[in-house]
Amino acid sequence: MKKKLSPQLYKVAFEKGTEAPFSGEYVYSKDKGTYNCAVCGNPLFSSDTKFDSGTGWPSFFEPVSKDAVEYHEDNSLGMVRTEITCGKCGSHLGHVFDDGPRPTGKRYCINCVSLGLEKAKNKGR
Ligand SMILES: [Zn+2]
Repeated sequence: MKKKLSPQLYKVAFEKGTEAPFSGEYVYSKDKGTYNCAVCGNPLFSSDTKFDSGTGWPSFFEPVSKDAVEYHEDNSLGMVRTEITCGKCGSHLGHVFDDGPRPTGKRYCINCVSLGLEKAKNKGR
């Protein structure tokens, strides 16, 4: 069964687009849970590793597992950056930079449209 993707998601995931900063629904989200790939549902980041980077995109210092994402050298726009794609379906997610907080020093800068938050269940219910 094929899921229909929104035009924004299609642009980011398959044409390596970038959403406008401060436009996404998860930029300031403090909800607990797991951020999954919006295309295939692969778990990517935990809300526990999310931090406020002030960049306008949700930022994480670590993926949920080593295989959750894949890394690719990206020389577009005259910069050398590391592109992040989904480890399962290969959709473009964002980029990783070396100016993140402890303990990893990494900043995974991800497009909101590429993420789907699966909220943690309330305890005791
Ligand atoms: Zn995926």
